[in-house]
Amino acid sequence: MLTTDPKIIASYSMEIIDSHCHLDDFFYEGKIEEVLSNAEYVSVTKMVAVGTHPKDWEFYAEFVRNRRNIFYTVGLHPLVAEDEKELDQLPIFLEKEIKPVAIGEIGLDYHRLPHEQQAKDETIEFQKLIFGKQLELAKTNGLPVVIHSRQAFDDTFNILINSGIAGSKILFHCYGYGVPEMEKLKSFGAFVSFAGTLTFRKEQVEPLKVANPDKLLIETDCPFLTPEPHRPKRNEPAFIRATARFAAKTLGMSENDFCNLTHKNTEKFFALE
Ligand SMILES: [Zn+2]
Repeated sequence: MLTTDPKIIASYSMEIIDSHCHLDDFFYEGKIEEVLSNAEYVSVTKMVAVGTHPKDWEFYAEFVRNRRNIFYTVGLHPLVAEDEKELDQLPIFLEKEIKPVAIGEIGLDYHRLPHEQQAKDETIEFQKLIFGKQLELAKTNGLPVVIHSRQAFDDTFNILINSGIAGSKILFHCYGYGVPEMEKLKSFGAFVSFAGTLTFRKEQVEPLKVANPDKLLIETDCPFLTPEPHRPKRNEPAFIRATARFAAKTLGMSENDFCNLTHKNTEKFFALE
């Protein structure tokens, strides 16, 4: 049991979706059943397991086979990608019986670029190349995209605008930019998702307040980014409750309304059944 607080336990009856999680480590450590039952206990009724590399694409495609409430995506993460060839396998998954619900997480991450200019330029060029190719695949297959973007808003946004993909098919996961960027995404019609960092990074509160409620999602990005009050434990889907509670309070909504809203938005974005 995660808590004995009756108010918090009452909130467990509201269904919620974790729109972005990574479950492979839990599996390999033999902890997946425990993690999934913790999630079930607090009514996390659906989860989107997000791919970062051919290895986890393969794992998720098998893992979701007998789990109707878990969906998966395939994408080559900008910090994980090493070779353009890693993309060769991606189209195979789009032909599978159980198809991914999106391409992602893909994008640009300029947080830890090499200092040396040439290496820096090459890294950026490589990230843009991988990103562009996957956007192309998403477009041809009519799939939505889950965007990972860190310290690279302008480049990410310009590439997306030029990709011809509709804003309604784009989700900025783990929102970490400011209010002006949120305004741009809002005009573009893109979806945004907040993670546990919202509970301890004050600068994320204002962007949340100006986000379009109809384009708002919530996620754990577990096993990373544990929300308060669960830090420094490792994050898991059940902890999405803490982030939802914090977000609902910030927006002056009831937890019930917030859960219903993000539930509906997540199903709509990923076209979940
Ligand atoms: Zn992630």
